[in-house]
Amino acid sequence: MSLPPLVEPAGKPSGELTRDEVRRYSRHLIIPDVAMDGQKRLKNAKVLCVGAGGLGSPALMYLAAAGVGTLGVVDFDVVDESNLQRQVIHGQSDVGRPKAESARDTIQEINPLVEVVLHTERLDASNVMEIFARYDLIVDGTDNFATRYLVNDACVLLDKPYVWGSIYRFDGQASVFWAEHGPCYRCLYPEPPPPGMVPSCAEGGVLGVLCASVGSIQVTEAIKLLTGIGDPLVGRLMVYDALEMSYRTIKVSKDPQCALCGEKPTITELIDYEEFCGTVSDEAVRAADGSTITAGELKEWIDAGKEIELIDVREPAEYEIVKIPGSVLIPKGEIVSGAALFRLPADRQVVLYCRSGARSAEALAAVKQAGFASAVHVQGGVLAWANQVDPSLPTY
Ligand code: ZN
Repeated sequence: MSLPPLVEPAGKPSGELTRDEVRRYSRHLIIPDVAMDGQKRLKNAKVLCVGAGGLGSPALMYLAAAGVGTLGVVDFDVVDESNLQRQVIHGQSDVGRPKAESARDTIQEINPLVEVVLHTERLDASNVMEIFARYDLIVDGTDNFATRYLVNDACVLLDKPYVWGSIYRFDGQASVFWAEHGPCYRCLYPEPPPPGMVPSCAEGGVLGVLCASVGSIQVTEAIKLLTGIGDPLVGRLMVYDALEMSYRTIKVSKDPQCALCGEKPTITELIDYEEFCGTVSDEAVRAADGSTITAGELKEWIDAGKEIELIDVREPAEYEIVKIPGSVLIPKGEIVSGAALFRLPADRQVVLYCRSGARSAEALAAVKQAGFASAVHVQGGVLAWANQVDPSLPTY
């Protein structure tokens, strides 16, 4: 399948490439499929990248280098040292700065001809339509399901192509969702996974360079769509396995039953995405209600010599990085499956913690279900402990 170019070439007189532009883009201009016409389309293009993180870094840098005329950056976060392993648009001196500003500086250094528009608010249902309407195409570099469904739904409602990518450990996926020409994200994933089922990169890790592999696929697709060359990744899912070093494409069809882009859509406007995706399950919320202690309270309990069993429900690799002293490791999966319930003591109060408090809430629900009524979990997990009790500990 080929599609017509998304963007018209920059028109006369201001649209003509200057002498400097011709020199800068000469390696594009001599490719017959791109040539002057394609480069002028890129110059006229307005691309929005949601997130200046792992995928957003290579995406923004290559879109800038390619000569996309207007680049929008959505990010409300600040640069953290743990970002630098993969978010190559930011550097050491950017730690603590807003990611959007740091990204803008790098883009301008790569290509001062690009107009950069910063959107530093959190993208949500109240602002997404107005922001997306200003762009031709959306590149998604987010890492959470609520934002993905938000981006997808807004793109369908506005009829914008949605260049999606996803990364986890050694595995990457990418596709182009465009309801007018093929499936949308909901055709592929009608429902978000149950909360706690799919770990994020913050929980499971990601090989830094994987961002470049998947981000470059996204940029390639964006350039193809903007200039109308090649076969776009519409209706196909690209699956990349870095350990096998294999790329496979899987056909994805439009779902006639899709709630958003199907024949009888039931979703005709934006919804509440936090509620739709849920950061923790209803069971976990109920279990944690009244059974949550702060890191400070845990410290008081330990100092007072209170008889507790402190259980870390993260994965072994995380436990190796940082832990609360006196804790034992029992990964959440073994608690939820019931396999490790026999290891919980009946004569002491069980205290669970994880990295930030979501997984421990899920585990808490299973532990209470198993009859440990006095069990509690630590709000904010080991990160809260490191912040509030022992700042000498490393965080991740
Ligand atoms: Zn759909």
